[in-house]
Amino acid sequence: MIKSSKVKQDKERKGYKFRLIVPNSEIERQLTKIVGSCRFVWNKALALVKQDDEDYRTVVQMSKMNAGDAEGISTFFKFNPYNQLSALLTKWKQHPETAFLKDAYSKSLQIVLEELGQAVSEAKSKTNPKRYPVFKKRGVKDSFSWNGTVKHDIENSRIFVPKIGYIRYHKSRDVLGVIKNVTISKQAGHWYVSLQTERPLSQVNPEWVNANRAIGIDVGIVKAVSSSDAISFEYQGKQISSNQLDSINPLREHQAKLAKLQKNLARKTKFSSNWNKQKVKISKLHSKIANIRNDFVHKVTTAISKSYAYVTVEALKIPNMSKSAKGTANKHGKMVKQKSGFNKSILDQGWGMFRQFLVYKLKYNYGTELIEVNPQYTSQKCSCCGHIHADNRKNQASFRCVKCGLSMNADLNASLNIKAAGLAVLACGVDGMPSIQNATLKQEPTELASSWVSNVGILAL
Ligand SMILES: [Zn+2]
Repeated sequence: MIKSSKVKQDKERKGYKFRLIVPNSEIERQLTKIVGSCRFVWNKALALVKQDDEDYRTVVQMSKMNAGDAEGISTFFKFNPYNQLSALLTKWKQHPETAFLKDAYSKSLQIVLEELGQAVSEAKSKTNPKRYPVFKKRGVKDSFSWNGTVKHDIENSRIFVPKIGYIRYHKSRDVLGVIKNVTISKQAGHWYVSLQTERPLSQVNPEWVNANRAIGIDVGIVKAVSSSDAISFEYQGKQISSNQLDSINPLREHQAKLAKLQKNLARKTKFSSNWNKQKVKISKLHSKIANIRNDFVHKVTTAISKSYAYVTVEALKIPNMSKSAKGTANKHGKMVKQKSGFNKSILDQGWGMFRQFLVYKLKYNYGTELIEVNPQYTSQKCSCCGHIHADNRKNQASFRCVKCGLSMNADLNASLNIKAAGLAVLACGVDGMPSIQNATLKQEPTELASSWVSNVGILAL
């Protein structure tokens, strides 16, 4: 038994390096300019420090020749390069000849001076002196850094470079933790971004598997998201609980507007100025809709990952979804059709996002993996007695078990089954959902289960 107070809260530091996608020669020119400004500041400051050292040595020498005392002189010359040079930096920026330094993020220039100060004091160390810093050459270790507030667009793999803007990078792995420090560098003709992150070490508590830290999520047509346990979150100033999710349509008004704009566009002459204007309006609305969707999915996944360390969803649900959206709309008339419009758009692009956000939020908060289970029968199985029958599902919205009589919302029943399957995976590595193939082919249960479990990859508990 591990008491929650004893769960480790140590910080983990990690470095990531990705290739930057420099979009055009103008951005390339701006990056090169910032690198140049940093090199300029380093070399100019180093020259001053060296001059100061030389003056110091000269005065000490003269003082000795005159049989004086060198002690008092040392405090007069030996300056702290960082403090005094950063004051000089402000002056350089004001000077017309070096005013170009204003185009670089001042934090990056300050870091250059900090590093120089550090290098000089290490070189002067009496116990373990290091090599004296040298002048920087163009093309050798070209780089600049910043820290403090770092803007990182994790979903789109973009980093905000101060004074330039967002630049995308080739993401080869997930970035976990809070970014403390960023370095942009150029090596062999390519630009790279290095991210130094910090995050609390895994906070998973084994007791949570049995406690209420597990949840099953069903992604549906009528209701975008259903959960086995109530979640609640703030959305547009209102507190929303998971059982209200079906009445929320953050995109309704905008989608109606979009349909109208697209109708108008069709009436205009192609490539006319009015047609172009309409095109711009439409693309602006598209990005607005994308932002709303992004925000909504963020709110829901944050609410889930705040309270639950073990989240189970159905694997590979997307292809099924689009099919059943059509079928459902045809069968159940207008209401479903209207709703499925919104949910389809949330799901079309939102489901992948939903999954992706959950994966990294769980990893970040607890070090757990999102659990995926076999979607077979989650909607037909009774969450109470386990009886599986197509007749259990009276219609899209309600579930009534023909064996035990359990009656409840169909989405809730499905999400309870998903949760149970997830807990089974946690307990023994099998998702607990029976399968026709399993029965007819008489496979060993573990063999079949392993195909799902391989998708799950749970961390050792
Ligand atoms: Zn039942």
